[in-house]
Amino acid sequence: MTDRPAPATEVVPGRQDVPRQDFIRQIVREDLASGKHAAIRTRFPPEPNGYLHIGHAKAICLDFGIAAEFGGRCNLRFDDTNPAKEDPEYVAAIQEDVRWLGFDWASLRHASDYFEVFYLGAEKLIRQGDAFVCDLSAEEVREYRGTLTEPGRNSPYRERSIEENLDLFRRMRAGEFADGSRTLRAKIDMASGNIAMRDPAIYRIKKVPHQNTGDAWPIYPMYDYAHSLSDAIEGITHSLCTLEFEDRRPLYDWCVDKVDLAGHPELLQPLLDRGFPLEAAKPRQIEFSRLNFNYLVMSKRKLLALVEDGLVDGWDDPRMPTLQGIRRRGYTPSALRLMVDRVGVSKQNSLLDIGVLEGALRDDLDARAPRRMAVLDPLKVVLANLAEGHEESLVFPNHPKDESQGTREIPFSRELWIEREDFAEVPPKGFKRLVPGGDVRLRGAGIIRCDEVVKDADGNVVELRCTLDPESRPGMEGANRKVKGTIHWVSARHAVAAEIRLYDRLFTVPDPDVDEGGKSYRDYLNPESRRVVTGYVEPAAATAEPEQSFQFERNGYFVADRRDHRGDAPVFNRSVTLRDTWARKP
Ligand code: ATP
Ligand code: MG
Repeated sequence: MTDRPAPATEVVPGRQDVPRQDFIRQIVREDLASGKHAAIRTRFPPEPNGYLHIGHAKAICLDFGIAAEFGGRCNLRFDDTNPAKEDPEYVAAIQEDVRWLGFDWASLRHASDYFEVFYLGAEKLIRQGDAFVCDLSAEEVREYRGTLTEPGRNSPYRERSIEENLDLFRRMRAGEFADGSRTLRAKIDMASGNIAMRDPAIYRIKKVPHQNTGDAWPIYPMYDYAHSLSDAIEGITHSLCTLEFEDRRPLYDWCVDKVDLAGHPELLQPLLDRGFPLEAAKPRQIEFSRLNFNYLVMSKRKLLALVEDGLVDGWDDPRMPTLQGIRRRGYTPSALRLMVDRVGVSKQNSLLDIGVLEGALRDDLDARAPRRMAVLDPLKVVLANLAEGHEESLVFPNHPKDESQGTREIPFSRELWIEREDFAEVPPKGFKRLVPGGDVRLRGAGIIRCDEVVKDADGNVVELRCTLDPESRPGMEGANRKVKGTIHWVSARHAVAAEIRLYDRLFTVPDPDVDEGGKSYRDYLNPESRRVVTGYVEPAAATAEPEQSFQFERNGYFVADRRDHRGDAPVFNRSVTLRDTWARKP
């Protein structure tokens, strides 16, 4: 990576040479053009307290994407200031997810790398008269805080002397006081119209071991303080975050300005000692709208509950909106990046239709996924006019619009599987596929006529005896004879039995997140969200690599399961149907 400011070269998908034009990129362009920054730096700052979800994909694409587009750099920084809720399992998964989306970090950081600097910054605030140790309990702090319409009241501890504050803060750091008994608070303005500015806590006592720093710290910095200073330490130029932080921007700026790391490099000495490069600068926070989709829940708390209560099969259940889940479902990094581009960047929060997400996957896979034939609900067809041992190979293009994908051979023989729903003994009006005495085209093989319907003792159709029209074979004169329908098929002798997991939306209602009338998202689980069937796939599908995506003709887009799929025991997950079948539901 270089620090060279480069012009944006990425283009809006489908529109040649049109640079992305959102307000954040506009700010970045202006800052580079005016020389305010020679190069930009961004960061993606997840808290390692859960798995990343589709919403995070937007933040990742913006943080990493904008840095890459403008020749800047992006750090991955774990915001690990709340050790009680954090776990190395999440740290590993988050790194894997960011890489999977196609990004890499200039530097991997942790807020905990900076604990020493935060501490020195806090002592500086105390010496400046900008922070004080407060003995109010959490409940008292709430009482003193005031409301949106009423100002707060000053803490009785607000006027402690600098010496007393320094002494108490050092003893907090030494572990002398009980959890929750004291806090260090910024001294700002209890009458501020912005509640975030009413003497917010910047340190609390919490004797919980930390995954990086062990027992070294009995006190931990609060989010706003740690986050703003982390940005400053790393020389972040554009600190992108979601809209709920807009009210906290004044506090962010207050922390950056009052501690003033850029003007006091001595505070960074602990980092220099540990070999971190010095790059402190004044960052600018810019907020954008969160990504939200209907038919999903994305709060970490609810996702955790779904997993813990066994309502889904773990964090990577293909119905989960976690990146691990949708990856297993068959979502591709390029589909997610396409979705983020289409959604755009604004300051308007909204609930997007899940069709936008599914549509991006369809468009991505339509352009790239090889085609295969698979029968999910098999009905036997016997071509009675072919010899018992008849066997041939038919050549099919892998992709109808992409010749570079080449061809494959599909075995064809006397006994085939077709889709049960492609036959109707008593056809409904407008039915265009196989009926007794009728014709249908077998994709790429010829036209068959159904001569006889064989049933079992219970009257179920078990087999169709058909005639293959020899004049309709590929290359023959009658190959283009008009028939109403074309259906897919596989050769019964050659096809491979596969476990097919038919996934659908996890919730039946567009807003499962709205708790109303005593109901919660749990009451809206879709009982049909996972159906497992045994189907038959052509041999070229069975040999897929795990995570390879296909269009199973007429059936949808499927992916070889990344955990369970094997060539001799194939497992495919339905990623998305070919069309939006929900739009038409009443
Ligand atoms: P929580 O508040 O439940 O801990 P979070 O979603 O805020 O979860 P973080 O780990 O703090 O999780 O998020 C990391 C980054 O991702 C933040 O910059 C946050 O603004 C951004 N982000 C989180 N959710 C979304 C979303 N739905 N859309 C866009 N960006 C998001
Ligand atoms: Mg958060």
